[in-house]
Amino acid sequence: MSKKWLSVMVLAMFMLTLGLAGCGGDKQQGKKVLKIGTDPGFAPFEFQDEKSKEYVGFDIDLIKALGTKMGYEVQIQNMNFDGLIPALEAGNIDATVAGMTIKEERAKKVLFSKPYYQSGLIVAVKNDNNTIKSVKDLEGKRIAVQIGTTGADAAKKIPNAVVREFNNAPEAFMELKAGGADAVINDKPVTAYYLKQGGDKDAKMVGDVLQAEEYGIAMNKKSTELKTKMDKALDEMKASGEYDKLYEKWFGKKQ
Ligand code: GLN
Repeated sequence: MSKKWLSVMVLAMFMLTLGLAGCGGDKQQGKKVLKIGTDPGFAPFEFQDEKSKEYVGFDIDLIKALGTKMGYEVQIQNMNFDGLIPALEAGNIDATVAGMTIKEERAKKVLFSKPYYQSGLIVAVKNDNNTIKSVKDLEGKRIAVQIGTTGADAAKKIPNAVVREFNNAPEAFMELKAGGADAVINDKPVTAYYLKQGGDKDAKMVGDVLQAEEYGIAMNKKSTELKTKMDKALDEMKASGEYDKLYEKWFGKKQ
């Protein structure tokens, strides 16, 4: 074979490879991956669908939509809530979407997006408990909470309370059900969802919201560019009505 022929063939094979790579879809090729850490024990924000085993929820839909807007493929990683900020700091994940309340102490370690959800804490007790009517009645009581959360912080401020910390919200509710705790302090939308899904057979919410909170998407301190993009994508979703659609899908019409 002549040298000329050989080079033509090499060139042809090279172009074929390029062409095939181009057909590979934009999943592997070109699309940047956004690694998202979350703790999927926090329905309806993030949880595992029993049948499909996929992670689903308001936060999951939100971050997927934001990712699409920003040109990223979103990859969800399952972690404990109290491991999320360390993972961000270590650069193991790019962002967290985990019903995470924006608070000063956390904002020293991570960058938060604009608030994307208004939330707050609430007390839950057993249906037959008529002595605990609000947070004021929790002095000296046994309180189950999720480790590393604002609910845990609130419980620790109650005089003489015995605070028991669990890895996730469902475990804290189980403790209440089993009689190992007198109350649970957790985020109201999560408690309300738990009750609606059948938890109301043995538990109820009491009193007013302890404190209003706002959720934000957390990113590494250095990810200023990503934060700018994230905020812009959030603004777009709110302006286009996509955010409201998502909200209604998981929480019903806004009152
Ligand atoms: N909003 C609460 C917090 O940020 C709880 C979040 C969670 O448990 N996923 O501490």
